[in-house]
Amino acid sequence: MGRQFFVGGNFKMNGNIKTIRDIVHNINSAKLDPNVEVVIAPPALYLLLAREHLRKGIEVAAQNVFDKPDGAFTGEISVKQLKESGITWTLTGHSERRVILQEDDAFVASKTKAALDGGLGVILCCGESLEQREAGKTIEVVTAQLKAVADIVKDWSKIVIAYEPIWAIGTGKVATTAQAQEVHAAIREWLKKEVSPEAAEATRILYGGSVNEKNCTELGKQPDIDGFLVGGASLKPAFVDIINANS
Ligand code: PEP
Repeated sequence: MGRQFFVGGNFKMNGNIKTIRDIVHNINSAKLDPNVEVVIAPPALYLLLAREHLRKGIEVAAQNVFDKPDGAFTGEISVKQLKESGITWTLTGHSERRVILQEDDAFVASKTKAALDGGLGVILCCGESLEQREAGKTIEVVTAQLKAVADIVKDWSKIVIAYEPIWAIGTGKVATTAQAQEVHAAIREWLKKEVSPEAAEATRILYGGSVNEKNCTELGKQPDIDGFLVGGASLKPAFVDIINANS
């Protein structure tokens, strides 16, 4: 069986009650390709609002989660709290958290494990900086990020990998289809060797980084690109066109 196309929308720290309602309304009233799995990740404050109003069949993700079950961790949200609120996915390892909040590979892996153990699906983000790409270290960096997870997680069936080159996030500089496909194929090869041939075959690998309604169709045709993680464009009506990129 082929891999189901997956499109995630990461709103980051954008929006307010009105705009979140508007985006949800836009998604609810659109004709969406039924073969595409769609997950949106609003800011934590609006997770419940989105879940309450979003139509069935579209899931909601947290942008972040903590790796401890409960306790004195001011400002953090647990896996159990997300689950109780009907939130079924979380992002982990987004580059903005890795770079700005200084989350290292081990912490990202620990959060990924906690989320999976608690029954959430995980959109696990990885990607290199421009400096690392120019030094020829892209695959090394990305696989090191993934290895930290593979060291403590054996079952990858609820992980979706998002390859997001940092230099392409929010910059308007999208990776070429060849650049993206090359890294996606390398990730699949890595999965085959380091996790299992089954995981390599089944794991969705999304591309993220300035995806919009114009560039998504070509990217989506690549054999190892199984969908997108969309930032800026997920806040716009064109998000629907990205969901329908390959229909
Ligand atoms: C993201 O934040 O995951 C992302 C890909 O952002 P953008 O689409 O805005 O580059």
